[in-house]
Amino acid sequence: MTQAGAIDGAGTGQDAVYDMVVLGGGSGGYAAALRGAQLGLRVALVEADKVGGTCLHRGCVPTKAILHAAETADAVREASAVGIRAALEGIDMPAVQEYKNSIVARMYKGLQGLVSSRGIDLVGGWGRLVAPDAVEVAGRHYRGRNVVLASGSYSKTMGQEISGPVITSEQALELDHVPASAVILGGGVIGVEFASAWASLGSQVTIIEALPHLVPNEDEAISKQLERAFRKRRINFRIGTRFESVERTHSGVQVRTADGAVTEAEVLLIAVGRGPATANLGFEEVGVAMDRGFVLTDPHGRTNVPGVWAVGDIVPGVQLAHRGFAQGIAVAERIAGLDPEPVDDVKVPKVTFCEPQIASVGLSEARAAELHGAENIVTSQFNVAGNAKSQILGTQGFVKLVSLKDGPILGFHAIGARMGEQVGEGQLIVSWEADANDVAALVHAHPTQNETIGEAAMALAGKPLHNHG
Ligand SMILES: Cc1cc2nc3c(=O)[nH]c(=O)nc-3n(C[C@H](O)[C@H](O)[C@H](O)COP(=O)(O)OP(=O)(O)OC[C@H]3O[C@@H](n4cnc5c(N)ncnc54)[C@H](O)[C@@H]3O)c2cc1C
Repeated sequence: MTQAGAIDGAGTGQDAVYDMVVLGGGSGGYAAALRGAQLGLRVALVEADKVGGTCLHRGCVPTKAILHAAETADAVREASAVGIRAALEGIDMPAVQEYKNSIVARMYKGLQGLVSSRGIDLVGGWGRLVAPDAVEVAGRHYRGRNVVLASGSYSKTMGQEISGPVITSEQALELDHVPASAVILGGGVIGVEFASAWASLGSQVTIIEALPHLVPNEDEAISKQLERAFRKRRINFRIGTRFESVERTHSGVQVRTADGAVTEAEVLLIAVGRGPATANLGFEEVGVAMDRGFVLTDPHGRTNVPGVWAVGDIVPGVQLAHRGFAQGIAVAERIAGLDPEPVDDVKVPKVTFCEPQIASVGLSEARAAELHGAENIVTSQFNVAGNAKSQILGTQGFVKLVSLKDGPILGFHAIGARMGEQVGEGQLIVSWEADANDVAALVHAHPTQNETIGEAAMALAGKPLHNHG
């Protein structure tokens, strides 16, 4: 397949030689290509499908469009609470799909424009690493003084066949109707985002999570608050129990769990995480060190094979688009002879866009205690009940700061409607190693949800303002 502005991979001419050949045009790969080209490198970007990858076409962007539609449905449903008479007449899922697809299409067009305007050779086709300095596409070799592996990830399926009512996020994003009921396997980020969206759109949802809490990678206080909020929203969940089997029935699925329960639903969404898409791409044959399919790198993105680099979801760590962007930029800069800071996973901000939203960066209380000793850790929690803007929005939640005693703030954790937007200040606090007094001294605008951060810091500094706790 050849994309607009792409080189046809089926050509048989001389090997093209580049400074950087990027295998995979998702968040990590295209960021490397864009930054490399900006720095004057000659770049080829090999992509089998569409530039933008999972995030733009099957991940971040379409899910957030559907979540926005779901939030709009909630706003209409709850309008009378603020004195507005409105009635939700129904959900027109084909129209929601059209809206979602129009956002993706617009972003895709913009990205294609960027790639071609930077003079990147976009090679359409399936690439394979055939030497440390060569990627083969349809019989033609694209040689690079550096090769950046960025082939991304796929939805894990626990050995289940994906067909009919048994789906992953890819099929879930394309449904032309809201399932009347759904079992969601996995209470991580993708699972709770779909649970939240579908519940708002009218579906009866049950989440099954093997670990003791929903969003198990978050601070436990956040998980518990989300569980309270989901209970209130009548989103069912069973935690601490394992999936055993799924049977297809005339009306959907019957899902059995280790606790003996059987749940019937129209669909089963498997959202148990994403594996590295690295099989049969020649990586092992070329000698690239791997672990369970992931490509191992040093903090700068270098693999053990000189000239071969890796970025994004194939590198062990948090699988987020902006981590891929940052890694791609850092690798391109290093190839171009600059000396960028390595990307530190602990400082990568995380937002889960369910309702209520979750934002976090840095260490959880448990991890901070593990690293520094519980006796050296202090925390402060500000409940949004004391925050005017949050009350205007009718949300519940809190900001929690985790700090070294008389030292820097190590972790920022927030939950509540729209709190995802607060992660920016959380990131500055943690990355710049600010302490309670530094943040308490900053003036936060009133009435905003941003004040919750100032309030939590004031409490941590021993001078709480609106804190009842
Ligand atoms: C439902 C869902 C929601 C998500 N929401 C968010 C979110 O809100 N925020 C966030 O930060 N992250 C989110 N993510 C995660 C995010 O999408 C990934 O972290 C990100 O896309 C990883 O980028 P990548 O470049 O490593 O891989 P990918 O985006 O997967 O890109 C890899 C690309 O490589 C191409 N490719 C693979 N093999 C070859 C080959 N041999 N030859 C040529 N091309 C090849 C693929 O076609 C693909 O385009 C979400 C993911 C999912 C599934």
